[in-house]
Amino acid sequence: MSDIYDLVKRYPWLPSLKTSYSDIASKNPLDFINEIFTSDKSNDIKRRVLTIFNDAFSNIEQLSEYELDENNIYVYLILKIILYIINNKILSNRIANIYSKTTYNELNKENEYNLYYIYQDLNLEVLYDEQPTIYKKFVVKDQQEIFKTNFKISYLNYLKLASNLKDEYRKLVNNAVRQGYVYIKPENINRLLQEHVRMKFLTQNNEISTELDKFKEKLFEIQEFKALYDTITAIWESKKEEFEYTIDITFKEGKDISETFPPCIKEILSKAQEGQNLIHTERLFILWFLNSLKYPEDKIINVFSTLPDFNREQTAYQVKYAMKKGYTPYSCKSLKSYSLCFAKEYKDVLCLEGYFSRLQEVQKDISHPLKYIEVKQYRDSKKLKKTKNQTLDKK
Ligand code: SF4
Repeated sequence: MSDIYDLVKRYPWLPSLKTSYSDIASKNPLDFINEIFTSDKSNDIKRRVLTIFNDAFSNIEQLSEYELDENNIYVYLILKIILYIINNKILSNRIANIYSKTTYNELNKENEYNLYYIYQDLNLEVLYDEQPTIYKKFVVKDQQEIFKTNFKISYLNYLKLASNLKDEYRKLVNNAVRQGYVYIKPENINRLLQEHVRMKFLTQNNEISTELDKFKEKLFEIQEFKALYDTITAIWESKKEEFEYTIDITFKEGKDISETFPPCIKEILSKAQEGQNLIHTERLFILWFLNSLKYPEDKIINVFSTLPDFNREQTAYQVKYAMKKGYTPYSCKSLKSYSLCFAKEYKDVLCLEGYFSRLQEVQKDISHPLKYIEVKQYRDSKKLKKTKNQTLDKK
């Protein structure tokens, strides 16, 4: 079993950082940065921070190195300070996703003693039973799958940790709850902790810009820190376009139809672009929708590549499966029932007022997102024709 000092090195976001490494945690950020960047640890820490940013910019799914020494604590704290002053949602989400995913994988390597200790440190009411409890059985034909675990977590803790993960199967009603505890495998608690760690990087920077500018100015007096910051922002500037482009989903070379997408799709794409988590229904909808528009497999996979729990192999399998089955995307009625219609928020006239059908000579509601695209494209083609005619008239 590891002691708390070792666990904090591996997981610097643990509350015990404050007590076990109080000399680090209690420092004012300026003194902290000054001390680090003038110490002999400086080069190693700079290199590791830069590697993490490069990993995030390269859109890979896991940190290429994650050393479990004391410098790991410094790297974590410096990352948070840099993200705080850069104050860029996309970048923060990207780092948050890759870092928290690595954390999840590290947690899954821990033995049960260490995990128990980590849960206690986070003040979670997690209990460990010597004998595993069978909490679910699946019987399909003559095969049966038995789920058992030694861990259970108080339902209040569970709800708090799962509050950002809105997938159906995480709802309390879909889990085994007995006497106020949710029976759960440690890897599922770790997945909840992945989200907890992800959120640590996403604290909104609400400081008024003059305060932030003053803080930055002071930090930039530390030459070594300024140099690292400049390197990171220069790489970001050069990669930004390409990075944001992962979400650009044109399916014919030179033709971008994303402008004709309805608000429900734009909202999900913008969440994905920012690296926010998508619930299962949103994932299915976007997948079926892009598939109906015959987007190539790799373009669809790329849309999911910025999500916190992205796994290329699994996503590729699901995309292939959906392509084979040819599912139809949800209708407006279903999307409204899932609270995924954003017509009002986007003040979209076509969604709110509908369109005039010349064929039937009636005003009709938009009943399906694909109909929305059809109407938009029809209107665009009309506009184009009109412009062409006007040009010819002038000639
Ligand atoms: S009305 Fe239909 S197409 Fe428009 S945002 Fe709502 S669900 Fe999407």
